[in-house]
Amino acid sequence: MSLSPPDVRVIDLDRIVRFVDLTGENAAVTPDVERRWRALLQAGEFVGGCEVEAFEQEWARYCGRTHAVGTANGTDALALALAGLGVGAGDEVLVPANTFIATAEAVSAVGARPVFVDVDPTTLLLTPEAVAAAVTPRAVAVVVVHLFGAVPDIEGLRRVADRAGLALIEDAAQAHGGRRHGRLAGSFGDVAAFSFYPTKNLGAFGDAGAVVTDDRMVADRIRSLGNHGRRAGSPNAHDVVGGNSRLDALQAAVLRVKLPHLDRRVAQRQALAAQYAAQLAGVDVQPVGVPVGSESAYHLFVVRSAQRDLLREMLAADGVATGVHYPVPCHRQPAYRCAGGPALPVAERAAREILSLPLHPGMTEEQVDRVCDVLAQAERAL
Ligand SMILES: *Cc1c(COP(=O)(O)O)cnc(C)c1O
Repeated sequence: MSLSPPDVRVIDLDRIVRFVDLTGENAAVTPDVERRWRALLQAGEFVGGCEVEAFEQEWARYCGRTHAVGTANGTDALALALAGLGVGAGDEVLVPANTFIATAEAVSAVGARPVFVDVDPTTLLLTPEAVAAAVTPRAVAVVVVHLFGAVPDIEGLRRVADRAGLALIEDAAQAHGGRRHGRLAGSFGDVAAFSFYPTKNLGAFGDAGAVVTDDRMVADRIRSLGNHGRRAGSPNAHDVVGGNSRLDALQAAVLRVKLPHLDRRVAQRQALAAQYAAQLAGVDVQPVGVPVGSESAYHLFVVRSAQRDLLREMLAADGVATGVHYPVPCHRQPAYRCAGGPALPVAERAAREILSLPLHPGMTEEQVDRVCDVLAQAERAL
C-alpha cells in the first residue's frame, strides 16, 4: 500500500536532475586535499604562509597577470579592488543592474554610490554604448560583470572607460576560464576580482576570493588594506586604516589542488552548453546570447521564456531543479530602491524571463537529454 498522499507525485530518484552537484568533483580531489590539510595542521599554518603564497602565484600566472592577492571572499575582492584604485566617498561607480547584489554592495562598502546601467537584450551584458550614455560627472570607475561566464565587448568598454577617465574593474566571479579573442577573463581590467565560493567554476571548501592586476602599487595597496593596513614586512606599522580580508591556508590548499582541473571542467561546461543549445533549437525558449568573439565559461546556462514561473514549476514537478539569476535587479531591491533612478527596461524584463538550467561538470549527456525532454513536454502543455 502506498503511503504517499494522492496529490504528491513520486519521482524516480534516478530521474531527478539536481541544479548543481559537487559530490563527484569534490570526491576526486579529497585525497590530495586531505594530505595538504594534514601538513597544514602539523605546521599550525592557517592564515597566510606557503600555500597562500603559492596559490597567489599560480592564480596570477593562470590569469596572465603579474600579481594576485588572496581575499576572504569575492565581495571583499571587489571592494578591495575599488579601494585599491582609490575609489571612495563621493565617487560614483557604474555597474550593470542585472548582477548579483555583491557587485553593488562592494561599491557601497567603500563609500561610493552605484549607478545602475541597463544591458544588451541578447547577451544581458554591458555595452560600450550603454556605459558611455550613463557616465555621470562623479563617475570614476565601471565594474564590468562577466555574467553567466561571458566576457562582453571589453575592447569597446575599455575605449569608453579611457575616454571618460574611468577605471575598469572586472567582476569575474562567474567567469574563471572564460575567454575573449583567446584571452582569459580577469586579464583585461585595471583590476579583476574573483570569488571562489564553493559553487563557482573554481570553488574552495568555504569562502575565498582574489584580485589580480599588473600594477604592483595597486596590488601592494590591496594587500595592505586587507591586512589591517600593515606595511609590508613591518607587522606593527599600520600605514592606512584597513581591515581583515585574507585568504586562509586551508582554502588556498583546496584551490591549488583544483586549479589544474579548471580548464577541463570549463570544457565540460561548454560541451554541455553546446548540447543544450542544439537540443533546445526546436523548443520555444531562447538561450541568452554570448557576444561574438567570446567563449563563455558557462558558470550558468540561462534561457528565457515569457512563461518562466509556470515552466519552472512544471520542471520541478518532474524532478528538474532550476534557478533564477536573478529574480530582482539590483535597482529594484529594497536596499537600493531608495536611490530612485530611471527604469531599466531590459534588466527588468529579463528578470521576469530568465531561467538557469542544471549545469555542472559532473552532469551527464543523458541528464541534459532529460532536462530538454521535460522542457519540451512542459512547453507543449503550456
Ligand atoms: C558570487 C559572486 C560575487 C561574490 O562572491 P562571494 O565570494 O560570494 O562574496 C560577486 N559577483 C558575482 C557576479 C558573483 O556571482
